[in-house]
Amino acid sequence: MVKHNLNITKLQSSYLFPEVTKRKNNFLEKNPQAKLISLSIGDTTEPIPSPITTAMHDAALRLASKEGYEGYGPEQGLLELRQKITQQYYPKHINSDDMFINDGAKCDIGRLQMFFGQDVKVAMQDPAYPVYVDGSVLAGQTGDFCQTKEAYNDLTLLACTPKNNFFPHLSKLSNVDLIYFCSPHNPTGAVASKKQLEELVDYARKNRSIIIYDSAYAFYIQDSDLPKSIYEIEGADEVAIEVGSFSKLAGFTGVRLGWSIIPSKLKFEDGLSVKKLWIRFLSTVFNGASNIAQYGGLACMGPEGQSEIQKIIQFYLENARILKKAIDQKFQTFGNINAPYIWTYMGDQSSWDYFNLLLEKAHLVTVPGSGFGSNGEGFIRFSSFGSRENILKAAERLQQL
Ligand code: PLP
Repeated sequence: MVKHNLNITKLQSSYLFPEVTKRKNNFLEKNPQAKLISLSIGDTTEPIPSPITTAMHDAALRLASKEGYEGYGPEQGLLELRQKITQQYYPKHINSDDMFINDGAKCDIGRLQMFFGQDVKVAMQDPAYPVYVDGSVLAGQTGDFCQTKEAYNDLTLLACTPKNNFFPHLSKLSNVDLIYFCSPHNPTGAVASKKQLEELVDYARKNRSIIIYDSAYAFYIQDSDLPKSIYEIEGADEVAIEVGSFSKLAGFTGVRLGWSIIPSKLKFEDGLSVKKLWIRFLSTVFNGASNIAQYGGLACMGPEGQSEIQKIIQFYLENARILKKAIDQKFQTFGNINAPYIWTYMGDQSSWDYFNLLLEKAHLVTVPGSGFGSNGEGFIRFSSFGSRENILKAAERLQQL
């Protein structure tokens, strides 16, 4: 008889998004006529621009010929793609040699959790993208779930609320090894300022911690004085890993492509190079991103691809403005729009109550803030991914609520 992995049964209830889908489906079963609009899971809706799909189509066709066929690619990903991403987004700060192309940010976050093993102490923003908590539990980096605290033992949650402007009080943080930090932040949409990131990097340098910086939404930042990468902060390359993604950049949520940056300067406490061990680890558990997806990624980095994907990002940001304007008439939202999410304080009832209310009274599917952590209680996350028609209808329904 095989024993099950105890870390899996430590996980609380189901993962957030399957629970949202379950409730939506239950509602639809009872109300089959309802025309639901989804403002829930952050999934892109607009077609991938044709210069990019053409590049993937051509890459697929090349595989059908003897001369064009390619099998396993370079382990770190296509050199040209790494160089283009570096030139485009990290021109001053990063060497393409420190970049690893992957099959999406979530996949590498999971692999990083396995890579660091169970003996690390972990901290993260609360609320946060649920994968940080659940993945840490799966990797055995936390204790059991404590019902009274409503949190896992041995896991540090850094409250991000309107009171601290969604940036945690690092002075109260006791020694931790890994700090997950997401900016623009899913779910609150908050973007850390340069000064705040300096504080974070400073903390990590003093305490010899490693930051796992998730920049999946960096391209949505509109305020030019806000940093788009942790490496804009001096010294960050000694303490930070950055994870990026083509998902919200170019609608690659289904295509699957992203990257991680593990700077050569990053070291473990015994002086071993993190990058060197990562290469050893990665070559065991991963065989590289799809070559078709990588050629699509290359097309995104060309001038035509860049101009097309910028148009789509602007489209989602305009959706966000429309939604925010409607929501602001009834509830409290926060910050400027530098992300495709609108974090809304609904009131002092539970987030799931508000989720049900929006589902039943406005036929809107949203995400309850509490699903991202206890500091999300009372909040709802509205996603601005959707057709303009649906977003306008959703705005109207919100105004009538
Ligand atoms: N990081 C954050 C903060 C996200 O919100 C998401 C997806 O919603 C991801 C990572 C996952 O990105 P990918 O599709 O590249 O796995």
